[in-house]
Amino acid sequence: MVATPNRVTFMQLPSDQEASGRTLGEAELEMLREAINSGTLTSTKGNMVKQLETRFAEMIGVKYAYACSSGSGAVHCAVAAIDPEPGDEIITTSITDMGGLTPILYQGAIPVFADVDPNTWNVTAETIAARITDRTKAIIVTHLFGNPCDMSAIMELANSRGIPVIEDCAQAFMAKHNGRSVGTFGSVGCFSLQQGKHITTGEGGLVTTNDDALARRLFLFINKAFGYGDPQPDHYFIALNSRMSELCGAVALAQLDKLQGCVDSRQASSAKLTEKLRGLPGIMTPVMDPRNSQVFWKYGLRVDASIVKGGSVGLAKKLKEEKGIFSAPRYIQKPAFQCEIFEKQRTFGNSRWPFTLARPEAVDYNPDRFPGTFAGLEWVLVLPWNERYTDAHVQYIADAIVDAVDELRM
Ligand SMILES: *Cc1c(COP(=O)(O)O)cnc(C)c1O
Repeated sequence: MVATPNRVTFMQLPSDQEASGRTLGEAELEMLREAINSGTLTSTKGNMVKQLETRFAEMIGVKYAYACSSGSGAVHCAVAAIDPEPGDEIITTSITDMGGLTPILYQGAIPVFADVDPNTWNVTAETIAARITDRTKAIIVTHLFGNPCDMSAIMELANSRGIPVIEDCAQAFMAKHNGRSVGTFGSVGCFSLQQGKHITTGEGGLVTTNDDALARRLFLFINKAFGYGDPQPDHYFIALNSRMSELCGAVALAQLDKLQGCVDSRQASSAKLTEKLRGLPGIMTPVMDPRNSQVFWKYGLRVDASIVKGGSVGLAKKLKEEKGIFSAPRYIQKPAFQCEIFEKQRTFGNSRWPFTLARPEAVDYNPDRFPGTFAGLEWVLVLPWNERYTDAHVQYIADAIVDAVDELRM
């Protein structure tokens, strides 16, 4: 007889990759039916996407919002709207999604990485200031895990130097700094509706601005730069089709109704975890700047490897093996600039363009320049977070962490 191994049953946590952790349902189906029945699935003629844009702009308090095909596309629109000259520098962050970086290169500009605060994994006015030169055309800030960057200090710096700011809010729907929504501070805000974001259409994006001229360029860039509605419309400049379809617009409209609830739920459940982990040796819960309302796209723990054996990697391994909890130690594993696209400058054919236009210092990725980035990645343990987590789920996660730390304590 073959011995059957002991079967441990793990609690199933809701996941944003499937129905258990999403809020897709009847409301979305209803809107989809309306879109389908209308027979018009393009946003150039339909009004789902138009309604989405109007409502989203109202919700976050901004003059213009335009829907597009992805969060990466949103950042691409933002960079294109600012229209850098080839070789211009755009300061960005070393810890973000690649979708926030490649658009810079597609528009012929050079991403210049600012270091981050290892405690929040966000860029700061100081780390940005250290990289400003007379070639700086824009600054992109990412509100990582839904925690706003210090927009007071960053906007003061940017305004004093006359440099536009793009906010990457893909992880930060409805997050606020001093009571004001992210995506309304800078020149352009960028949002993602990808499967794993707060609300989703599978793929999709939104851009926001208060600036009339930038709004015009954003609209054009999404629409092959064709001047819809102009007396003599033409294709005015280089641009692809980055439109959202009416099908996604319909789902997004239904999802918008659920957004505040999703955020409220994530904030309440994350606060409970923080409370339960208070005082646990070797574990630091997220920094809570009282000026910020953060929206917990993920829950980022800091793990002190001098107290918890194996640090974030050791803790993640225990959580997975003993409780079936999947987490991401080191988040994106390595700083963005250590990915092949930057290390080998893989762009268009063998040209390496636009890196060929860069000042050597702008593309010097010596680790000594990025102490915050390396320290931050070393100790971060990213716990997936979800609006459907109940008290029981949070208790399960808390107990798992407490038990694991207990075993790993040195
Ligand atoms: C998800 C994400 C993007 C890219 O969005 P997509 O919709 O996946 O293209 C860009 N920036 C950040 C910070 C993200 O989290």
